[in-house]
Amino acid sequence: MESKAIESPKELQEQLLDMEKLKYCFECGICTASCPVMEITSNHYNPRVLLEQILLDPDKVLKKEALWLCAWCYRCYKRCPQRLKVPEIFLALRKMATRQGHLEGFNEALRTVSRHVPFPASYCWVCLHPERSMLDRQFVESALQNATRFSAKERKRRAILAQEAERCKVAVIGSGPAGLTAACELAVEGFPVTVFESMTKLGGMLQKCLPTYRLPKDVLNAEIEHMKDLGIEFRTSTTVGKDLTIGKLRREGFKAIFISTGAHKSRELKVEGCNREGVLHALEFLKEANLGNANVGEKVVVIGGGNVAVDAARTALRMGAKDVAVLYRRSREEMPANPWEVSEAEAEGVKIHFLISPKKILGKNKRVAALECIKMSLGELDESGRRAPLPVEGSEFIMDSDMIILAIGEMPNLTFLPKEIEITEAGTIAVDPFTMETSMPGVFAGGDVVLGPATVVEAIVAGKRAASSIERYLEGEV
Ligand SMILES: Cc1cc2nc3c(=O)[nH]c(=O)nc-3n(C[C@H](O)[C@H](O)[C@H](O)COP(=O)(O)OP(=O)(O)OC[C@H]3O[C@@H](n4cnc5c(N)ncnc54)[C@H](O)[C@@H]3O)c2cc1C
Ligand code: SF4
Ligand code: SF4
Repeated sequence: MESKAIESPKELQEQLLDMEKLKYCFECGICTASCPVMEITSNHYNPRVLLEQILLDPDKVLKKEALWLCAWCYRCYKRCPQRLKVPEIFLALRKMATRQGHLEGFNEALRTVSRHVPFPASYCWVCLHPERSMLDRQFVESALQNATRFSAKERKRRAILAQEAERCKVAVIGSGPAGLTAACELAVEGFPVTVFESMTKLGGMLQKCLPTYRLPKDVLNAEIEHMKDLGIEFRTSTTVGKDLTIGKLRREGFKAIFISTGAHKSRELKVEGCNREGVLHALEFLKEANLGNANVGEKVVVIGGGNVAVDAARTALRMGAKDVAVLYRRSREEMPANPWEVSEAEAEGVKIHFLISPKKILGKNKRVAALECIKMSLGELDESGRRAPLPVEGSEFIMDSDMIILAIGEMPNLTFLPKEIEITEAGTIAVDPFTMETSMPGVFAGGDVVLGPATVVEAIVAGKRAASSIERYLEGEV
């Protein structure tokens, strides 16, 4: 990985403080109850138990597999009553394990991941962040050579078994982590699965927007090729809602359908000047950057405070922008991006400005030239549970910029759904959280299209839950 782990004295001090805070853990178990990795690998991982073991005998934990299984989704941190940065506590210990050469736990964790995740190498780079634990890249690459869900021989054997099984056909719409997981789980159980994908390439956000410095695309594509060996049929450049409909899929004999179309619609910024040249959405910028087509400005301003904003800023910097700033309208404490992503971006040179909001995009001719901003202060709690940002009257100022990237959030595009499928107030598909079934019998949904923008590990959990419900549904049990 190009991204280098940083460990400044300040950072070390912060990690030690996190370890100190561990003494105030309530042992309430909310972290364990909300942990998606716990759901996938419950026999190997339990964050609350691991935290307790760290307090009792940290040296022993250094050799444990569980130390390496946390997937950095920060779900526990968001729900922990003591706001303990659980993944960062584990990271401090992971680094210690690396320094002392205790790498057996990491290798064991990879073996566990390989048994439960259909794309273990991609999962390792995106979710386990070995670079942050100071692991040597060559060591990780060589460990990942053996990380595969099934050997080539086993894939062939399973594909033949599936052909002979004569089970009902299943359609999966969308080939991101949720769709790929559901497709693999169902294929190995002998169901003929067809995946419909609107893009020319498979992999969802991992392919389209995840920066290559975080996930090399050859790693992802090799794992997708393995899935083809399982007998899964992939129909790329096929958009449900345009090339076919859910009704047509049913008429073609698909007895169950899994919708995993993600959250690819960018929210619009409602300020004057958004249509100027040089203003673009983060997903579009990251997609073009992955294709090698994006141009970058000299002074780039990214508007937003989530992980996508941070990725866009770091990508712009790598592409040669001289000055990259992120503007966020609340304070650091409210910033939705994972704290670790933010500190990595700052260490690389991204400037993050808090309590600032855009007011107007200014330009010369049709092109962007500057941004009029206004300072904000924090007021009472709003409906999101965070303090509402309020403009400070008369605090306007101008910031020069030749490229503005909008990263103020993404949401699912649900225009292709039949009216029988219920949608939540948040604009996501409503499902039964246990079965993942929608209000239309036989149609299931999961991943970002249900949760809104979330994480890879949560999409994997959704794909697994849906596959198991689809199997029971087709056998008449749901
Ligand atoms: C820039 C960026 C960085 C991220 N970094 C991380 C990270 O470090 N760690 C992490 O855990 N998560 C990260 N995420 C989030 C993660 O990528 C998503 O949570 C995850 O990919 C969601 O999986 P999914 O299968 O639900 O949907 P997606 O991965 O979004 O896949 C949906 C697929 O459905 C296809 N599709 C959509 N509509 C249709 C249609 N009508 N017909 C056919 N196909 C359709 C899309 O083309 C897409 O391929 C990141 C996301 C972004 C944007
Ligand atoms: S949620 Fe927080 S307080 Fe509760 S057990 Fe986990 S770390 Fe401790
Ligand atoms: S960060 Fe996510 S994976 Fe890690 S312990 Fe917390 S909930 Fe589990």
